[in-house]
Amino acid sequence: MSDTNCKICTMVLPSPYLVHENDLWRIRHSNETDIEHYCIIESKRHFLDLSNARADELAEYAALLSKLMSAQRKLIPNCERIYTFSLAEAVPHFHVHVIPRRDDFPADYIGRGIMSYPLSPALDFDRVGALVSALRAHF
Ligand SMILES: [Zn+2]
Repeated sequence: MSDTNCKICTMVLPSPYLVHENDLWRIRHSNETDIEHYCIIESKRHFLDLSNARADELAEYAALLSKLMSAQRKLIPNCERIYTFSLAEAVPHFHVHVIPRRDDFPADYIGRGIMSYPLSPALDFDRVGALVSALRAHF
């Protein structure tokens, strides 16, 4: 079920980052960049990708991803795109980055450029708390 060597299975999440969770999935705000409402959806069960997901996990994943994207669009009026990707190279546990891209986003980081977006500074802890509160209201 879980892997004691896995960063996601063993993650102790500071509660201000937790947007939503149920028995199958957790949604958290990223702590890696200064992009507001950048969230990560991760499976509770340790598996690599959706080829390993059960039917109940797939159904709930689709519903949660849609709900998260709807929340991001409501909270960010100038949101032009919402990027989603899963690489599973650093941590081989299924998780998807869900990154809203505003119309004023720096041009160098649009599209595939998102991969080189600076990892610091991260968002201020209090700011994350406010963003997560707003997101939680949509679940
Ligand atoms: Zn894991």
